[in-house]
Amino acid sequence: MLARNFATLPDLLRAHAAEQPDKVALAEAGGELDYASLDALVDRIADALQRDGVQQGDAVAIVAAASIDYVAIFLGALRAGCLATPLAPSGTPDSIVAMIADCAAPITFVDTDAANALSGHHIPGKLVHLKSLGSWLAPVGAQPTPVTIAPEDGFNIIYSSGTTGVPKGIVQSHAMRWAHISRNEAAGFASAVTMIATPLYSNTTLVSVLPTLGWGGTVVLMKKFDARGYLTLAERHRATHTMLVPVQYQRIMALPDFDRFDLSSFRFKTCTSAPFPAALKADVVARWPGLLVEYYGMTEGGGTCLLIANAFPDKLHTVGRPVEGHDVRLIDDDGREVPQGERGEVVGRSPAMMTAYHGRKDATAAAEWFDADGNRFIRHGDIGRFDAEGFLTLLDRKKDLIISGGFNIYPADLEAVLARHPAVADCSVIGVPNETWGESPVGFYVPHSGIDASIAEILEWTNAHLGKTQRLTALHAIAELPRSAIGKVLKRALRDRLAEHAL
Ligand code: ATP
Ligand code: MG
Repeated sequence: MLARNFATLPDLLRAHAAEQPDKVALAEAGGELDYASLDALVDRIADALQRDGVQQGDAVAIVAAASIDYVAIFLGALRAGCLATPLAPSGTPDSIVAMIADCAAPITFVDTDAANALSGHHIPGKLVHLKSLGSWLAPVGAQPTPVTIAPEDGFNIIYSSGTTGVPKGIVQSHAMRWAHISRNEAAGFASAVTMIATPLYSNTTLVSVLPTLGWGGTVVLMKKFDARGYLTLAERHRATHTMLVPVQYQRIMALPDFDRFDLSSFRFKTCTSAPFPAALKADVVARWPGLLVEYYGMTEGGGTCLLIANAFPDKLHTVGRPVEGHDVRLIDDDGREVPQGERGEVVGRSPAMMTAYHGRKDATAAAEWFDADGNRFIRHGDIGRFDAEGFLTLLDRKKDLIISGGFNIYPADLEAVLARHPAVADCSVIGVPNETWGESPVGFYVPHSGIDASIAEILEWTNAHLGKTQRLTALHAIAELPRSAIGKVLKRALRDRLAEHAL
């Protein structure tokens, strides 16, 4: 069915509803919805949006935890020709209001937690509580006025994770999403039961959810992740596919009774969004059936790299090679391509690339790079190196690079050493202003319970294993590293804590 040049996701959904009406499209703890019912619900949502005066091309915002209704609203927005705009409920109320204003959504859907968090704040546009979705919906059997959707029309606005600053709105078109869904034929999503345990506002999650629905598979939603609950649910649903972030893999593999779960149904596990330690990849490959595929990319859709971990046991320290049709290169500070084997900033170009940040002309211009032929690339803000076989090793985010006394210090190098100390369960290194050196590296670690070692001992051990210019000037113990809801370490939060002496 996907052997066409372009189809919209709502049209694919319509086709699945006709061909496999009783197949479960979405499942959650409280119930499930088959394709025919999902398609009918999506119609009612699209009709109610039109009744409320929401226009084609408008943003429809959603601030909620993952649920069947959430996905239905996302799809209903698409069927009405709107841009689905899922926003992070984990943000501060002010940041959520700022994003709603930024995308000018005439309507915003909230769950109870989001409604509570936002109460007392002025929300531009109409607010619909998911609790009262039933009374807001158009009547059963309602049909929205059909809209014509062109490939270049907006599909969704996704705000970047905000790991390095204020989240930026990224408009992805139907063509971009189609490129992604259609490319995934080999992944077998048509018969997939895809376990999802990450928030729906993140592109990381959507790149698994959308192909599953586009190909007519089943999505199982877990509202709040815990390792044991995840495995129990996966076993019960005979899950075949999943997307997890590295910290989730880490928690699952650390379960003492991991090997007692029957995970033989798994065929395709993916991972993206943050550094994935090679030893952890090896452990997943060894003990969890099915392929493990790591993606490296960004919401902006510059260029994506892919590593099939099972096939390249000696390349687990890399994020793989560029996927077909993606051009990934490395440039220096002057914007020149670096010779093979040298470090440089990653720039990428692909059919699934954003045109611009929403309403941010200067941020868009700053993110662009053009090759000698005038081809447009997006800067990833990451530093990497290609090996002779074309596999990319990521070194660090450019913004996290520490420049000390004229030397470039890659925090990831220091973190790798610190992590080897037996008393260190988790760690992170940041640069702090230093009068003599410009910046100097400071470490944070989460102590391993049961292993005794003083901060001074760990600092001395670590520095003994580092180069002279790399040495940590200070080390702090911390109960937990600040992480975003998608599992990324928030270095700016560590910097803030140091600045506030809140340690
Ligand atoms: P912001 O741009 O708002 O600061 P962000 O860059 O974290 O946030 P995303 O688009 O969600 O927003 O994430 C893309 C980034 O995530 C990449 O630039 C890279 O730093 C990191 N990343 C993605 N995949 C991987 C991976 N496989 N290994 C290591 N890091 C990864
Ligand atoms: Mg980014």
